[in-house]
Amino acid sequence: MKNNKKIIAANWKMNGSEELMKEFSQLTPARHNDVIICPPFTLLDSAKSLLSNSIKLGAQNCSAEDKGPFTGEISASMLQEKNVSHVLIGHSERRTLFKETDYVILKKIEAAIKSKLIPIVCIGETISEKKTNKTLQALDSQINRSLAKIQPHEQVIVAYEPVWAIGTGLTPDENEIRETHLYIKTKLNQHFNADIPILYGGSANSENCSQIISIENVGGLLVGGASLKKHEFKTICNC
Ligand code: PEP
Repeated sequence: MKNNKKIIAANWKMNGSEELMKEFSQLTPARHNDVIICPPFTLLDSAKSLLSNSIKLGAQNCSAEDKGPFTGEISASMLQEKNVSHVLIGHSERRTLFKETDYVILKKIEAAIKSKLIPIVCIGETISEKKTNKTLQALDSQINRSLAKIQPHEQVIVAYEPVWAIGTGLTPDENEIRETHLYIKTKLNQHFNADIPILYGGSANSENCSQIISIENVGGLLVGGASLKKHEFKTICNC
């Protein structure tokens, strides 16, 4: 028996097409979970017109700036005009490949909130941090430098994504997920007024989703690769 709604967020990354969006138009997620799909920017309009109304729309990134000479960037207010309600911020691929620092991530969270978007802020340790027992230290520092600077009444979602689990088929064991989620929850509770949902992300799929989502303090899932396959994602949405 489920006691509360879970959040299932799909990160399509730089994948997908008009054709795939048409396939997803047949997806009607279970009512007991909130589903958010984050396609590439170019598919936002099709997502709005084709997807079931019960699916919320997310973006994968936004600028820290509101407007101006920032060629190639997209601001949070532009996303709001496209009916976007959520935006991923600080995904490990942005941190690593695009050199986004915790300071930039803080500025992006602030920009999203200013435009009434709910940021889904990704945090997580690298493999070397894990191997040197620095997981909690890494999470602590990411939270202190970005999330703890946000006003305590603001609405945010956190996604715990161990970097070494993203796209690798590896996942932490149940105890590790339980421990890190409890740690993050305790830390966030010291700052925010309301309970912040904490999603797990990293190689979640239709086979492991039910087990992961039932772990204490796991508020849902952020799904990459498996969210691109309609049947697979449907199973995850209903788990
Ligand atoms: C992600 O990139 O946010 C992610 C969770 O990817 P995957 O599910 O493919 O590991």
